[in-house]
Amino acid sequence: MSEMMTPEAIDRVRQRAAEADRAVVKAGTNSLTDESSNLDDEKLDKLVDDIADLRERGTDVILVSSGAVGAGVGRVGYTGETVEESQALSTVGQSHLMRRYTESFERYDTKVAQILLTEHDLENTDRFTNFRNTIETLLSWDVVPIINENDAVATQEIRIGDNDMLSSSVAIGVGVDLLVTLTDVGGVYTGNPKRDPDAERIEAVGDNYDEVQAIIDESSSSTFGGIQTKVQGAREVSEHGIPAVIAKSTEPDVLDQIATGKEVGTLFVPINGVTDE
Ligand code: GLU
Repeated sequence: MSEMMTPEAIDRVRQRAAEADRAVVKAGTNSLTDESSNLDDEKLDKLVDDIADLRERGTDVILVSSGAVGAGVGRVGYTGETVEESQALSTVGQSHLMRRYTESFERYDTKVAQILLTEHDLENTDRFTNFRNTIETLLSWDVVPIINENDAVATQEIRIGDNDMLSSSVAIGVGVDLLVTLTDVGGVYTGNPKRDPDAERIEAVGDNYDEVQAIIDESSSSTFGGIQTKVQGAREVSEHGIPAVIAKSTEPDVLDQIATGKEVGTLFVPINGVTDE
């Protein structure tokens, strides 16, 4: 059953998102690297500042971070032409990425942990239980888990958008109260905002899902930045009763805005969630 999208209902979901005890935050490669595919310290520090804001408000954060292949390209100085090369680049980039996260979180006296997952780890019950136990232990130690795909071994999984599905599976499997997908557009739009100046941001997605899906199918192309998988991931978590927000990573204090119930990005209204008070 879809939710009624009254302004009050949307506001209640915003409040629920604001009060989340646990959140998965997903950051994409272009939220972390510059045009030359080098890790962008300013962008990375900004993400860490935003996460620190959320943690200060009492929300535990699990970060799903892309950028391994991207950072590897910048570091090695070579784009890679084959899957094997991309896999190898990811291993260079991943350790570089983690070094930068470690340094950046140290500004807040916060420790981080690296977890690399493959599809198999999500599908296999024993592996997933182990993963969840590790997450629980890390969070109880106040450590920020940073998850990425294990690109070195996950052949089919190196393609844009996979971490959108990974973050939604993690959010559902761990049972968090909020998923935030940070990207380079300000949410879901009525057209492609990079090409169409009249495209308007869609405030909330709930019972208008089919309509939104149709708009996306029509306006998406390879330059649309993988909005389809972000929407799909957000929709999946909302179907599990978890609110989700797709928002722009460069938006000032973006996570703090969500944590204070402000209107930012596109909110996915949980199915059967609004009335479950
Ligand atoms: N796992 C890949 C990386 O870290 C990116 C996958 C994605 O962008 O969704 O480079």
